[in-house]
Amino acid sequence: MLALCKTEPVEGGGVAVRDWEPRDAGPGEIRLKVGAAGICGTDMQIFNWAPRMARRMKLPRVLGHEVSGIVDQVGEGVTNVALGDHVSLESHIFCGTCRPCRLGNAHLCNNTTYPGIDIDGAFADYITVPALIAWKNPKDLPHETGAMLEPFGIGVHACLEGSGVSGQTVLINGCGPIGLMAVAVARALGASRVIAADLNPLRLKTAEIMGADRAIKADDENVADVVRDMTGGEGADVGIEFSGSEPGFQAVFDSLCKGGDFRLVGAPPKAIPVDFTWWLLKCPRMVNIHGRRIWDTWQRSTELVYSGAVDLKPIQSHILPLSEAAEGFELIRRGEAVKPLIVPEG
Ligand SMILES: [Zn+2]
Ligand SMILES: [Zn+2]
Repeated sequence: MLALCKTEPVEGGGVAVRDWEPRDAGPGEIRLKVGAAGICGTDMQIFNWAPRMARRMKLPRVLGHEVSGIVDQVGEGVTNVALGDHVSLESHIFCGTCRPCRLGNAHLCNNTTYPGIDIDGAFADYITVPALIAWKNPKDLPHETGAMLEPFGIGVHACLEGSGVSGQTVLINGCGPIGLMAVAVARALGASRVIAADLNPLRLKTAEIMGADRAIKADDENVADVVRDMTGGEGADVGIEFSGSEPGFQAVFDSLCKGGDFRLVGAPPKAIPVDFTWWLLKCPRMVNIHGRRIWDTWQRSTELVYSGAVDLKPIQSHILPLSEAAEGFELIRRGEAVKPLIVPEG
């Protein structure tokens, strides 16, 4: 089979499509025939060989962890899925026995590993993973949509935590795929106003399609000024930060109303200085969003998608055959793609 691998520990590249032997499902494992797989920010970090996660990888490694496929092998002892089932994968391989897992926080498992980083991933004809990360979908769900359920879950998680979004003004700062998904979730869950901010015109246009009342080009307009303008000077009830940038962090803080919710999703690459006096005076609540609750968020997310309350189609900007998968990384790097999906030819 073919597989897109990180082959060299270099910044901005070192990825190539190679011949690769699929692995049989061992005890507790399933093998999927991949239907579609999405390229995400983490894959871009690996492409760029960012210090945090990428550098623990053993190369060559098949990339990709956002995937939908059909179960074509079931290992010994697997009972949660069967041959022929259509499934999406949770990307956090959790242990189920550590303290966070036992407390119902499997998304914060002490022993988390990931397909596409610690084991071979989804940019291939087949992927073999522990069955415990499989989520069964109806067979009429397109694989392109199924492959986006993992990132979509982060957007849903971000909208459900803290004070939620219902009846509130919600600022989404950073309109990458997950920010854009959060725009649609906030709309579907009854936010009174959804305001989106980004620098990239393609993303801002997509934010409007996903249901934003206003899309702010953050290098042309001051985000906090626009938000205050739209809220009678009060500010947003909820600010969700997806950009991971210092100006983004500051813009969300400045845009919040007193006592509002600051929800942090985007991981800043380096420490950001915070003026805690201002933080104290404004009294926002800080809520950190890491991954998805397993399986609470999946249950809520799939109810939104299966029912049609959220349509993820506008997010899938490119469908590429596996042999051209590397082009997807270049499209993202050039700011020309929202979510490229890779579809094996076979
Ligand atoms: Zn991802
Ligand atoms: Zn655990």
